Amino acid sequence: MRALKQRPLLVMGNWKMHGDQAKVRALLRELCAAELSPGAPEIAVLPAFVHLADAVRVLKGGPIAWGAQDICRHPDGAHTGDVSAAMLVDYNCRFVLVGHSERRRSHGEGDALVAAKFKAARRAGLQPVLCLGEDLVQREAGRASQVVTRQLEAVLASCTPRDLRPVVLAYEPIWAIGSGAAAGAEQAQEMHALLRGCIAARGLEYARDTRILYGGSVCAENAAALFEMPDVDGVLVGGASLRAQEFLAICRAAAAFQAR
Ligand code: PEP
Repeated sequence: MRALKQRPLLVMGNWKMHGDQAKVRALLRELCAAELSPGAPEIAVLPAFVHLADAVRVLKGGPIAWGAQDICRHPDGAHTGDVSAAMLVDYNCRFVLVGHSERRRSHGEGDALVAAKFKAARRAGLQPVLCLGEDLVQREAGRASQVVTRQLEAVLASCTPRDLRPVVLAYEPIWAIGSGAAAGAEQAQEMHALLRGCIAARGLEYARDTRILYGGSVCAENAAALFEMPDVDGVLVGGASLRAQEFLAICRAAAAFQAR
């Protein structure tokens, strides 16, 4: 453990397919009204595509950034239902998730497609957040490291050195997502160190700049312990990010850590 991180903390809320216009606007307004200390972490929220315009309207000019939960690998054209990188840039998105386990699972997204989405985001000037994580069967079989390494290497192999700076990863063990049972801080640290080691094999400077978020049942109670870990550079929050005061409490825990 060490008191200071080399990388600024990032707290990101993944709102998934929750809410309607009224609820999302209320959530945005509550976040917007919060006093964020100067030591606050970088904060971002990821509403559904149809709520991005509201996010832009409410959050513009403030300290909270926004982004999207998915992206199309193609730049434009006949891709019904998809949203391109350029469209997200047009909405001033800063971040976009790629390879979230819910998309890998329910949309059959494999490593090659995730790598293509990562590159599409990167080339458009968006910051892709590459999600990686093993399921319970894989963990219990002792294959967690192998699974996340494979997921990461599939993307790294298709990247140029320019694509690698800076990278944001989110380690999200599938068994922890939405379960209320987050990985222990030491357990998360072990996987984050492994992932940083994979990046370091491509150049130490990339490893130093890579932010690795932990995701999976993060809440106000467990966030502070996660921030203590040297390779945990922030959190990706699902359920708890839908409750403004709880999300803000997580942001404050990050700010308190950074202010030390
Ligand atoms: C997620 O799915 O990205 C996530 C972290 O969800 P939750 O916090 O609800 O486990």
